[in-house]
Amino acid sequence: ETSPPATQASTAQSQALFSRAQRVTPGGVNSPVRAFKSVGGSPRFIREAHGAYLTDADGHRLLDYIGSWGPMILGHDHPAVREAVADALSRGTSYGAPGEGEVRLAETVTRLTGVERVRFVNSGTEATMSALRLARGATARKFIVKFRGNYHGHADGLLVEAGSGLMTNAEGHLGRAAPSSAGVPEEYAALTLVSEYNDPVALDALMAERGHEVAAVIFEPVVGNAGVLIPTPNFLAALHRVREHGTLLIADEVMTGFRLSLRGATGLLGLTPDLICWGKIIGGGLPVGAYGGRADVMNYVSPQGPVYQAGTLSGNPLAMAAGLATLQVLENEPALYVKLESYTAQLAGGLSAAAREAGVPLSVNRVGSMLTAFHQDAPDGSIRTYTDAARSDTAAFARWFQQMLAGGVYWAPSQFESIFVSAAHGEAELSRTLDVARAAYLHLGR
Ligand code: PLP
Repeated sequence: ETSPPATQASTAQSQALFSRAQRVTPGGVNSPVRAFKSVGGSPRFIREAHGAYLTDADGHRLLDYIGSWGPMILGHDHPAVREAVADALSRGTSYGAPGEGEVRLAETVTRLTGVERVRFVNSGTEATMSALRLARGATARKFIVKFRGNYHGHADGLLVEAGSGLMTNAEGHLGRAAPSSAGVPEEYAALTLVSEYNDPVALDALMAERGHEVAAVIFEPVVGNAGVLIPTPNFLAALHRVREHGTLLIADEVMTGFRLSLRGATGLLGLTPDLICWGKIIGGGLPVGAYGGRADVMNYVSPQGPVYQAGTLSGNPLAMAAGLATLQVLENEPALYVKLESYTAQLAGGLSAAAREAGVPLSVNRVGSMLTAFHQDAPDGSIRTYTDAARSDTAAFARWFQQMLAGGVYWAPSQFESIFVSAAHGEAELSRTLDVARAAYLHLGR
């Protein structure tokens, strides 16, 4: 069922909530990109979500391409997830002692992804932060390498050249670790070395010079946080070479895990990282993160080993139930990945064609159900680095975004984000999206 393209005339309730929120919460939101700062206007406050749609506080139905920034791969309020959470709820919400849910989810994750041990935490941020501590503990080295424009959550040492939400303000220079946030001491940032994504020569050179003191190289196997960037085969080969220096390779699959395939980007691209971090889908819309790898590395984690990491709510039974139900649906219905691929490929083709017809420069990067349409004049698929992505016309994107929202299509409110398609997106949603997008490009082209 599709409601007529809403004119989204009144946003009075959202605006009233935003005013109240700004009086009690910094910027009125609990995560910065939600404030719409890079596209202008006031954010929609969401009342409920079902399938591919959000309903905002004024009752407008919005076709959702954010999917809570990735977790909602099955669509909102999926019956299997809802029932699993309700069932868990009837048995209490938190024990502070181990339970079977954690074992079942860990068994599922290890079986699907090939890691030998996994530890659950409460967010992607905790997953990457803990994986880095583990890498430092296991190698007795201090430095880490990350890539410009890759985001790994907001732990101090990772808020360096950190992409998306930070991309419009970032003024860092390659090779020098520039914190992307106030409050990150330069001494912390100095332990983070930065290289350019998709530049194997730069990575080899950095490792030749500093490799002996680098505990880990952490990377997004497909970048979502500078907009979508797809790794080149040469870059992937250089990533694997970092091991020759005794450095651990950490794939941050918080966004890509269980999205690009059941085995994530690791499976899709044939990667063999030492450690993998997860978030988002692994919790099915509840707060879960995880990190895992070979037993010999993971056995450094407390209480087995000397690297401390803990959590009052880690392995929470409701969250484990939501994650497990989500992974079970994905495993039992492999056709879902085919559907996601087909929908998103058609979306990419449709956006390209519509922009071309309207004379709007656009370059689309897509893999699986992740997509960014960069407002710039470059062939589709040719944007490979942070520097390439940063050339986009963010003002044109913002105008297009506002037209989409006015037409009832809720795109990610930043040029430097991926959108996420869900299994609840079907033919009706695709044609409606392309209708609204076509009108929005024509409006821009005028
Ligand atoms: N790593 C990647 C690749 C992410 O995309 C994100 C969040 O978007 C994170 C880590 C941080 O996860 P969280 O927001 O759950 O802390």
